[in-house]
Amino acid sequence: MSGAAHERAGAAAQVPDVDALVAAFTDAFGGEPEGVWAAPGRVNVIGEHLDYNGGPVLPMALPQVTVVALRRRDDEEIHLLSASDLGEEDARWSGSLSGVGPGTPQGWAAYPAGVLWALREGGPPYDAAATGVDAAFASTVPIGAGLSSSAALECAVAVAAADLAELPHDDQGRAVLAQRCVRAENDVAGAPTGGMDQAAALRTEEGSALLLHTADSTVEQVPFDLARAGLVLLVMDTRAKHSHAGGEYGDRRATCEAAATTLGVEHLASLAGPTGGTSDEPGPLGDDESAAADEETLSALEDDVARCRVRHVLTETRRVRRVVELLRGASADDIGAIGPVLTASHASMRDDYEISSPELDTAVDAALSAGALGARMTGGGFGGSAIALVRSGDVEAVETAARSAAADAGHPEPAFYLAVPSRSAHRLR
Ligand code: ADP
Ligand code: MG
Repeated sequence: MSGAAHERAGAAAQVPDVDALVAAFTDAFGGEPEGVWAAPGRVNVIGEHLDYNGGPVLPMALPQVTVVALRRRDDEEIHLLSASDLGEEDARWSGSLSGVGPGTPQGWAAYPAGVLWALREGGPPYDAAATGVDAAFASTVPIGAGLSSSAALECAVAVAAADLAELPHDDQGRAVLAQRCVRAENDVAGAPTGGMDQAAALRTEEGSALLLHTADSTVEQVPFDLARAGLVLLVMDTRAKHSHAGGEYGDRRATCEAAATTLGVEHLASLAGPTGGTSDEPGPLGDDESAAADEETLSALEDDVARCRVRHVLTETRRVRRVVELLRGASADDIGAIGPVLTASHASMRDDYEISSPELDTAVDAALSAGALGARMTGGGFGGSAIALVRSGDVEAVETAARSAAADAGHPEPAFYLAVPSRSAHRLR
């Protein structure tokens, strides 16, 4: 990594000020927290909208984290405080664990309170971690940028509660905690997300990306040593949000579920054939042979839109496998070979899955024309962030290009982060 990239990475704090957080805890609740825990945001390297299609996804944990200072209570009360700017929302929330359930509470408290509820609902042994709490949060994960501040918030609470109850959180335990956090997000916060974000925050090792097989929730660590290869994964937060994102997500999911029923499979990803060829530059549809097999599969679907959606699922599944093959086989110099696969993924999301946005397309195109080896939107789509795989020396040029392309198009000024493959949730104090 170049000196310039280092400086930029260091410019914004990656971990919140823990002393200040503990002081805020004491101010709000009196006394000291029992401990302090951190859980990371994540970026998805590749494998978009596959987590509800039983496909493989490849997220990585970010250095940006949400930190919680927490103390158990011996009653059912939950007292929460967030140091983050939540716009209109109140930074403090109090209620009772027995009052938490589907749809209640509303607002940001749904995530942390929902985790405690889900731990209880899930039964032994993790229900022992479901107590009243006093908890204060601070975060460096940008909120609503598609970098999963919501999962970071949930997973910080989950590891804190499990730790204090002395429940195991080896990978097996963390797989359970991830399910509980998903339940909190789905049922209490009402956000219909899959399990990728929570797995990334709980199950990733430093220096690796996490290959999550969403059909059975098993994981493999995939080495992702960008720095050794002289590369940087640049996150470009477009800071553009589209209000219809939630509805579109539900719509994509419903289309895929209906198509799976028509095609007689539980999960669409099971219809993706093997990764074909060794081409470094597969087109958006993959190699010719796989594409022909896909068209045969797709011919059973009557609806044009459904065919496009399913095509994305099949080609994206093979692209994840291809990237994993390349990363596993790669000497440090070869990591750049995943670039064209990332770019093909973007084209598929833009054209077949139709989840990109003008802001995301502009950032991706600008990055590529300024020398990025590959670029794609990441996360659910309709706003949020894109990533670009960039040689360390080109970071500044890519940022400048993305910034001026956004200005020319009348889009908001993007924010930039360096995605360094970081560790999963852990105790700080
Ligand atoms: P993303 O996960 O991509 O950042 P989401 O819409 O899924 O976006 O989650 C953002 C929501 O999560 C916020 O609106 C807020 O309710 C909650 N949230 C995330 N981080 C915090 C935090 N540090 N403090 C309070 N609420 C938070
Ligand atoms: Mg989220």
